[in-house]
Amino acid sequence: MNEMKKQLPIKIISFDVDGTLVSQRFTDCVWLQGIPEAYAAKEGLSSEQAFEFVKSEYDKIGENRIEWYKIDYWLRKFGLGITREELFRKYEGEIKIYEEVESVLKVLKEEGYKLIVSSNAATEFLDFQIHSLKKFFSRIFSATSDCGEVKKSDGFYARICGILDVQPQEVVHIGDHWIFDFVNPRKIGMNAYYLDRKRGRNRKEKKEDEFIISDLSEILDKKIFYHRRYL
Ligand SMILES: [Mg+2]
Repeated sequence: MNEMKKQLPIKIISFDVDGTLVSQRFTDCVWLQGIPEAYAAKEGLSSEQAFEFVKSEYDKIGENRIEWYKIDYWLRKFGLGITREELFRKYEGEIKIYEEVESVLKVLKEEGYKLIVSSNAATEFLDFQIHSLKKFFSRIFSATSDCGEVKKSDGFYARICGILDVQPQEVVHIGDHWIFDFVNPRKIGMNAYYLDRKRGRNRKEKKEDEFIISDLSEILDKKIFYHRRYL
C-alpha cells in the first residue's frame, strides 16, 4: 500500500533573510561596531573597553529575551545620542545581497509563486536591509516584531500558514539555520530546504542531501517546483 502523501502544488516560497538573502555583515556592524563606538564616544572609553562592556550587557539579556532584538531598547539603555536611522545609514554600504538572489526571486515570481519573508530579525532591520528586494515579496513576517517570539518555532510557521490561508504542504521555506529554518518548518509539514553557502557546488551528491542547497539558484532545479512549470 502506498502511504506516501500526495505532494500538494507549491503556492508560497518563504525565505529567511540574514545569511540567506543578505550577508550577516550589516547586522554585525550595527551591533558590534556602531553601538560600542557610540558608547565609547559618550563615555570616553577605548573601543576595546566599550566593546567589552556592551557585549557583556548583551549577554546579560541574552538571545532568549525579546529585548535582545530591539535596537531602540539598547540605544535607550546606553543613553546613546545616535538614532537608529543614523546608525543604519552609517553602515548602509555594508549591506550585501547575495549575487544570485535577485535573479532567482525574479524567476520564481514570474512563475507565479507568492514570495514571502519569514525572519527572526526585527522589522526595522528587515525593512532597511531588503528594501531593494521588497517588490518581490507579498508579505514580510518578523518572529520577534510581529509574533513576540525570539526564535522561529513551529508555532510561528503555523501562524504564517494560518494568516496566508494555506496548508503547510503548500509552502516551501528556505534558510540557513538547521533548526529554525529546516527542522521547525518541517515539524508542521512544510517543505524546507537548508541553505549551506559554505559547501561547494561540486560535492558528491548523496541521497540524504536532497534538501540541502549551497545557493538559492539550486532551488530552481528541485522537482517540487515542476508542477507549475511543466503543467
Ligand atoms: Mg539566517
